[in-house]
Amino acid sequence: MFSQQTHGDTIRVVTEADIGKGITAESDIENVDALITNVPGVPMITFYADCVPVFILDPVKKAVGLAHSGWKGTTLKIAVKTIQKMSEVYGTNPKDCLVGIGPSIEMKCFQIKEDAAKLFKQNFHNWESFMKKKDEEHYTADLWLAIELMLMEIGVQKQNITISGLCTCCNDDLFFSHRRDKGSTGSLSAIIEIR
Ligand SMILES: [Zn+2]
Repeated sequence: MFSQQTHGDTIRVVTEADIGKGITAESDIENVDALITNVPGVPMITFYADCVPVFILDPVKKAVGLAHSGWKGTTLKIAVKTIQKMSEVYGTNPKDCLVGIGPSIEMKCFQIKEDAAKLFKQNFHNWESFMKKKDEEHYTADLWLAIELMLMEIGVQKQNITISGLCTCCNDDLFFSHRRDKGSTGSLSAIIEIR
Protein backbone atom coordinates (compact mmCIF):
# COMPACT_ATOMS: atom_id res chain seq x y z
CA MET A 1 0.00 0.00 0.00
CA PHE A 2 1.08 3.56 -0.39
CA SER A 3 0.02 6.91 0.98
CA GLN A 4 -0.86 10.23 -0.51
CA GLN A 5 1.60 12.57 1.18
CA THR A 6 1.21 16.24 1.99
CA HIS A 7 4.35 17.27 3.91
CA GLY A 8 2.42 17.04 7.16
CA ASP A 9 2.95 14.98 10.28
CA THR A 10 0.06 12.53 10.23
CA ILE A 11 1.04 8.96 10.96
CA ARG A 12 -1.01 5.97 9.92
CA VAL A 13 -1.06 2.62 11.65
CA VAL A 14 -1.12 0.06 8.83
CA THR A 15 -2.76 -3.37 9.07
CA GLU A 16 -3.70 -6.29 6.81
CA ALA A 17 -6.80 -4.34 5.78
CA ASP A 18 -4.56 -1.82 4.00
CA ILE A 19 -2.79 -4.29 1.69
CA GLY A 20 -2.82 -3.06 -1.92
CA LYS A 21 -4.32 0.33 -1.17
CA GLY A 22 -3.37 2.85 -3.83
CA ILE A 23 -2.17 0.01 -6.08
CA THR A 24 -4.79 -2.70 -6.50
CA ALA A 25 -7.35 -1.39 -4.04
CA GLU A 26 -8.95 1.99 -3.56
CA SER A 27 -7.11 4.02 -0.98
CA ASP A 28 -8.35 6.03 1.95
CA ILE A 29 -4.80 6.80 3.03
CA GLU A 30 -4.58 10.50 2.38
CA ASN A 31 -2.67 13.32 3.99
CA VAL A 32 -0.40 10.76 5.58
CA ASP A 33 3.37 11.23 5.65
CA ALA A 34 4.40 8.33 7.83
CA LEU A 35 3.38 4.70 8.03
CA ILE A 36 3.95 2.16 10.77
CA THR A 37 3.09 -1.52 11.06
CA ASN A 38 3.89 -4.66 12.98
CA VAL A 39 2.13 -6.91 10.50
CA PRO A 40 4.44 -9.13 8.39
CA GLY A 41 3.90 -9.19 4.64
CA VAL A 42 2.56 -5.65 4.30
CA PRO A 43 4.91 -3.62 2.08
CA MET A 44 4.59 0.09 2.80
CA ILE A 45 5.61 2.64 0.18
CA THR A 46 6.25 6.37 0.26
CA PHE A 47 7.48 8.67 -2.55
CA TYR A 48 10.34 11.12 -2.81
CA ALA A 49 12.24 13.49 -5.03
CA ASP A 50 14.73 15.18 -2.65
CA CYS A 51 12.77 14.73 0.57
CA VAL A 52 14.29 12.40 3.12
CA PRO A 53 13.02 8.84 3.52
CA VAL A 54 13.50 7.67 7.10
CA PHE A 55 13.37 3.89 7.55
CA ILE A 56 12.80 2.62 11.08
CA LEU A 57 13.10 -0.93 12.39
CA ASP A 58 12.38 -2.03 15.91
CA PRO A 59 13.82 -5.56 15.94
CA VAL A 60 12.62 -6.17 19.52
CA LYS A 61 8.91 -5.50 19.04
CA LYS A 62 9.16 -6.45 15.36
CA ALA A 63 7.68 -3.26 14.03
CA VAL A 64 8.69 -0.89 11.22
CA GLY A 65 8.06 2.70 10.27
CA LEU A 66 8.63 4.82 7.19
CA ALA A 67 8.57 8.60 7.35
CA HIS A 68 8.58 11.15 4.54
CA SER A 69 10.68 13.95 5.98
CA GLY A 70 11.04 16.82 3.56
CA TRP A 71 12.10 20.14 4.98
CA LYS A 72 8.58 20.80 6.24
CA GLY A 73 8.25 17.33 7.75
CA THR A 74 11.68 17.79 9.28
CA THR A 75 10.58 21.02 10.97
CA LEU A 76 7.56 19.08 12.23
CA LYS A 77 9.94 16.35 13.51
CA ILE A 78 7.97 13.64 11.77
CA ALA A 79 10.73 11.04 12.30
CA VAL A 80 10.52 11.59 16.05
CA LYS A 81 6.73 11.46 15.99
CA THR A 82 6.84 8.23 14.00
CA ILE A 83 8.99 6.51 16.64
CA GLN A 84 6.81 7.97 19.40
CA LYS A 85 3.77 6.52 17.67
CA MET A 86 5.55 3.15 17.45
CA SER A 87 6.18 3.41 21.21
CA GLU A 88 2.53 4.16 21.86
CA VAL A 89 1.17 1.42 19.62
CA TYR A 90 3.83 -1.31 19.76
CA GLY A 91 5.78 -0.50 22.91
CA THR A 92 8.89 0.45 20.91
CA ASN A 93 11.89 1.70 22.87
CA PRO A 94 13.85 4.23 20.76
CA LYS A 95 17.09 2.66 22.09
CA ASP A 96 16.30 -0.51 20.15
CA CYS A 97 15.56 1.19 16.84
CA LEU A 98 17.70 0.90 13.73
CA VAL A 99 17.26 3.91 11.46
CA GLY A 100 18.22 4.37 7.82
CA ILE A 101 18.27 7.79 6.19
CA GLY A 102 17.92 7.22 2.45
CA PRO A 103 19.09 9.15 -0.63
CA SER A 104 17.81 12.73 -0.55
CA ILE A 105 19.07 16.25 -0.92
CA GLU A 106 22.37 17.04 0.79
CA MET A 107 23.30 20.25 2.54
CA LYS A 108 25.35 21.87 -0.22
CA CYS A 109 22.52 21.42 -2.73
CA PHE A 110 19.76 22.48 -0.38
CA GLN A 111 19.22 26.18 -0.16
CA ILE A 112 16.35 27.76 1.72
CA LYS A 113 15.13 31.27 2.31
CA GLU A 114 14.37 33.09 5.53
CA ASP A 115 10.74 31.86 5.72
CA ALA A 116 11.83 28.22 5.87
CA ALA A 117 14.87 29.03 8.00
CA LYS A 118 12.56 30.70 10.51
CA LEU A 119 10.65 27.46 11.04
CA PHE A 120 13.89 25.62 11.81
CA LYS A 121 14.93 28.35 14.22
CA GLN A 122 11.55 28.20 15.97
CA ASN A 123 11.48 24.43 16.29
CA PHE A 124 15.12 23.53 17.01
CA HIS A 125 17.21 24.81 19.91
CA ASN A 126 20.25 23.42 18.07
CA TRP A 127 19.51 24.74 14.56
CA GLU A 128 22.96 26.28 14.31
CA SER A 129 24.49 22.83 14.29
CA PHE A 130 22.83 21.90 10.99
CA MET A 131 21.89 25.19 9.30
CA LYS A 132 24.28 27.88 8.05
CA LYS A 133 23.72 31.28 6.56
CA LYS A 134 24.91 31.33 2.97
CA ASP A 135 24.33 34.92 1.92
CA GLU A 136 21.97 37.78 2.73
CA GLU A 137 18.87 35.85 1.68
CA HIS A 138 19.75 32.19 1.88
CA TYR A 139 20.63 29.41 4.24
CA THR A 140 21.76 25.86 3.64
CA ALA A 141 20.42 23.10 5.85
CA ASP A 142 21.63 19.58 6.51
CA LEU A 143 18.39 17.62 6.85
CA TRP A 144 20.29 14.36 7.47
CA LEU A 145 22.03 15.82 10.50
CA ALA A 146 18.86 17.53 11.73
CA ILE A 147 17.06 14.17 11.67
CA GLU A 148 19.97 12.34 13.28
CA LEU A 149 20.16 14.89 16.11
CA MET A 150 16.41 14.90 16.78
CA LEU A 151 16.36 11.10 16.94
CA MET A 152 19.32 10.99 19.30
CA GLU A 153 17.45 13.40 21.57
CA ILE A 154 14.68 10.82 22.07
CA GLY A 155 17.16 8.03 22.76
CA VAL A 156 18.01 6.51 19.39
CA GLN A 157 21.65 5.40 19.51
CA LYS A 158 24.01 7.20 17.15
CA GLN A 159 25.57 3.91 16.06
CA ASN A 160 22.10 2.68 15.07
CA ILE A 161 21.56 5.50 12.57
CA THR A 162 22.85 4.94 9.05
CA ILE A 163 22.93 7.85 6.61
CA SER A 164 23.21 6.78 2.97
CA GLY A 165 25.09 9.97 2.11
CA LEU A 166 23.73 9.89 -1.44
CA CYS A 167 22.45 13.19 -2.78
CA THR A 168 19.46 13.00 -5.13
CA CYS A 169 20.30 16.38 -6.64
CA CYS A 170 23.92 15.55 -7.60
CA ASN A 171 23.40 12.01 -8.85
CA ASP A 172 21.34 12.60 -11.97
CA ASP A 173 22.20 9.16 -13.33
CA LEU A 174 20.67 7.51 -10.26
CA PHE A 175 17.88 9.64 -8.85
CA PHE A 176 15.05 11.99 -9.60
CA SER A 177 15.40 15.40 -8.01
CA HIS A 178 12.69 18.00 -7.65
CA ARG A 179 15.19 20.82 -7.26
CA ARG A 180 17.57 19.78 -10.03
CA ASP A 181 14.77 19.10 -12.51
CA LYS A 182 12.87 22.23 -11.46
CA GLY A 183 9.71 20.43 -10.41
CA SER A 184 9.28 18.36 -13.55
CA THR A 185 10.53 15.06 -12.32
CA GLY A 186 9.64 11.50 -11.38
CA SER A 187 9.51 9.99 -7.93
CA LEU A 188 11.70 7.63 -6.00
CA SER A 189 9.87 5.16 -3.84
CA ALA A 190 10.93 3.86 -0.48
CA ILE A 191 9.57 0.49 0.57
CA ILE A 192 9.68 -1.26 3.91
CA GLU A 193 8.14 -4.58 4.89
CA ILE A 194 8.39 -7.06 7.71
CA ARG A 195 8.96 -10.53 6.35
ZN1 LIG B 1 24.02 17.27 -4.12
